[in-house]
Amino acid sequence: MSEVEHLLERARQRDAEDPLAGLRARFELPAQGIYLDGNSLGAPTLATIERVERTLHDEWATSLVAGWTAHDWIGLPERVGRKLAGIVGAEPTEVLVTDTTTINLFRLAWAARRLTEDRRRVLIERDNFPADNYMLQGLAESFPFPTELVPLPAHELASAVDHRTAMVVASHVSYRSGAILDLDELVEAARPHGTLTLVDLAHSAGVVPVELSARGIDLAVGCGYKYLNGGPGAPAFLYVRKALQDRVLGPLWGWLGHAEPFAFEPDYRPASGIRRHLCGTPPILSLSALDEALEVLGEVDIERVRAKSMALTDAFVAAVESGTDRLELVSPREADARGSQVAWRHPEAWPIVRALQARGIVGDFRAPDLARFGFAPLYNRHEEAVRAGLALAEVVETRAYDDPRFRERRAVT
Ligand SMILES: *Cc1c(COP(=O)(O)O)cnc(C)c1O
Repeated sequence: MSEVEHLLERARQRDAEDPLAGLRARFELPAQGIYLDGNSLGAPTLATIERVERTLHDEWATSLVAGWTAHDWIGLPERVGRKLAGIVGAEPTEVLVTDTTTINLFRLAWAARRLTEDRRRVLIERDNFPADNYMLQGLAESFPFPTELVPLPAHELASAVDHRTAMVVASHVSYRSGAILDLDELVEAARPHGTLTLVDLAHSAGVVPVELSARGIDLAVGCGYKYLNGGPGAPAFLYVRKALQDRVLGPLWGWLGHAEPFAFEPDYRPASGIRRHLCGTPPILSLSALDEALEVLGEVDIERVRAKSMALTDAFVAAVESGTDRLELVSPREADARGSQVAWRHPEAWPIVRALQARGIVGDFRAPDLARFGFAPLYNRHEEAVRAGLALAEVVETRAYDDPRFRERRAVT
């Protein structure tokens, strides 16, 4: 058997033995091609599509304004939060679904600064998703007490914490390399100094066990449309550790976060618990989609999802490296040190990604030179990982990406 046949054979065997294999049928996926961009936009389940239709016809069109109570729309941000709490290892009252990841990051970072006014240093991950750092730059400009942002590589954050540090803001899984940050080390470093931890779970929620409560993470935010499959622009979530909830108050004092929204009092009084972070009227169509999407994850053991995720990324790396040595693996080589994505560096990464897309294999490009592939264990197969890896190697080796039609840039990469 050739190496390629061997890789494919092993992948088929793994698919046959995969305890999660049956879940794929619950997703609506294109009939052709291999989708490896679930880390950017997850796929819908059939039930999600039906749920949104039901919400439109049987709830909105039927109940109109009575729907807020008849269908408990008003409680949806907290209800979906409870569901999500189980997936990220938080207590049911520690998670709220609302707004976007970046807005929630700003909100919680602001709240954390209020609790640590006497300190000015905020350690941030230098290579974090830029939006996170933009938000913190905005915070440093607008917060009424001086804030000094200290950008550091992720692995240097823990050792840089000291008594001057107000908080540390970092991603659990790097959006570029996929490297997993050691959260235990971070909490251990932060705790003795009273430094608050704020973690972005955009690339870990739903695919890497997070264990927020057990780890003692103070604050977290995350994204609803990546591995959680909530749909384009799905509402995001925020987490506040229970012991801190009465002291954590963001800058956006919305009416639905008021202790009694329908008392229409002239002055703001924060609701107790997680609901105080609610700002305006929740987007019920999008929340319904996310609510339904989380059903699948709610049924499976996240450790199983993780085991399959590691097998998928391993299979992909092996397939790529069986065919080319012209790509630099940017993700950690050991599966347990990376999330559910694999990034390769190549000066022609953009046309390479486009050439693969033309073959029906969807990954994405991250400037300036990374080709990134995400693996969604709920619907991707091991055989897909191997086929995609072989195709990537072939595109690189044959320079199929040289075609000028693969060079033009698009607005969204
Ligand atoms: C995807 C992602 C976001 C997205 O934020 P939005 O507000 O939903 O646009 C934020 N942070 C990180 C680390 C991400 O990967």
